[in-house]
Amino acid sequence: MKVEIVQVWRNRYEERRLSAMVPPLTSLHLAALVPNDVEVAVRHEKVSPVDYDTDADLVALSFFTGVAARAYAHSRELRRRGKKVVMGGPHVTMLPDEAAAHADAVVVGEGEPVWRRVIEDAARGRLAPRYQGEARPLAGLPPPRYDLLEPRFAVRRVVMATRGCPYRCSFCTTAVLFPRFRTRPVEEVVRDIESLPGGNWLQRKLVWFWDDNLLVDRRYGKALLRAMVPLRKWWVTQTSLDCAEDEELLDLMRASGCAAIFIGIETLDAASLRQANKMFAPRARVARAIERLHEARIAVLGGYIVGFDGERPADVVAAAAALDDLGVDVPFLSVLTPYPGTPQRAAYERAGRLLGDRGWRWYDGYNVAFRPAAMTPAELEAAHRELWRQAFALGRAAARVVRVAQRGGPGALALAAAMNGYYGLRQLLGRIPAAPGEEENEPPVPSRSIEEVKGASEFPPRL
Ligand code: SF4
Repeated sequence: MKVEIVQVWRNRYEERRLSAMVPPLTSLHLAALVPNDVEVAVRHEKVSPVDYDTDADLVALSFFTGVAARAYAHSRELRRRGKKVVMGGPHVTMLPDEAAAHADAVVVGEGEPVWRRVIEDAARGRLAPRYQGEARPLAGLPPPRYDLLEPRFAVRRVVMATRGCPYRCSFCTTAVLFPRFRTRPVEEVVRDIESLPGGNWLQRKLVWFWDDNLLVDRRYGKALLRAMVPLRKWWVTQTSLDCAEDEELLDLMRASGCAAIFIGIETLDAASLRQANKMFAPRARVARAIERLHEARIAVLGGYIVGFDGERPADVVAAAAALDDLGVDVPFLSVLTPYPGTPQRAAYERAGRLLGDRGWRWYDGYNVAFRPAAMTPAELEAAHRELWRQAFALGRAAARVVRVAQRGGPGALALAAAMNGYYGLRQLLGRIPAAPGEEENEPPVPSRSIEEVKGASEFPPRL
């Protein structure tokens, strides 16, 4: 028997070239759980198209909301050729009934606890229509199958240490997908970091933690970083800004080779922060955190979202300068997206503000699927594109790199230069975020929300 695990993906920019920076990790973890007598392959659509004529007997499609219709189209072609198709991932977990109409089986929740059973059932020709993957402790996962990683990914040492986030931001799916924050044993994380052979110098040097909030549990974060110090790596992750307020943690981040931290700034406006349920990250606190991270020679990758209710087009575009003033070294600029399962979506549904004629392909983080309060959807989209152009204008991108060169460590500089260069070049070549193309047979977007996440994002968070 052969199993192929496919990460479905679509380019969000105006270009056709297949490029790849960081591979997602789930498929490599799932591949490691496949029994020895079953052949396994991993494919990411970012670097290799889906092969409908694959010799695999079972194809597992994992996907986010923005590519759901694309995944359903892939499934149709695969099933037409006699393949069994199982679906999983964030969108399937949110809307299992929708996905089930397009697959032989769906995995709801986390894949690892049920994946072996799925394969055994498929081998016996007895796939169940639905498998429920409960959130279990993460100890004991085998090392990811890095050997199956397609060579075109630039970053190769991708590792997961934690899963979930204790905060409850209104737009974020993490709390819905992973109701409990969990950590992996430090020694297993270190084992994974050390288990990847080969690659060039930078690929061996750089560790990318595929986590939502790596350092939010201080005790765990410090234990992990102490174990990282002797490895002499550069590492990057996403975590909340409070990491910069713990002196000991900050020292350990620096000593263990932290090159850059992605923090979700989301918005600089107080009312929008309330809408985001992220009052713990006011502008002054963000500014102080960035300052302290810079003092530790760490670059700051700043997530920023446009489309909150108080914003007009000029406010959106003004963020290009505001983020530079704040000291963000690489901005990541998204459009507010009402993903299924989020409180933000429920609020828009109640207010009748979802755009019913826009299917899932509009839910890609770069396009507009709701009616903004103070502008039209087209104005928001145009303002986002203009913000993107201005933020990655060559002068601005180069100035950010120069700034990091003056105060950052070598890892910070390498990342800031690579990312600003990458997006600056895209901007120069006109490869900016694009509207989604047509998707055949796109399912209608359901009008009722699934159960929303409740509770405020408190600080300190409840772990
Ligand atoms: S801090 Fe908020 S946006 Fe970030 S992962 Fe947690 S819930 Fe999501």
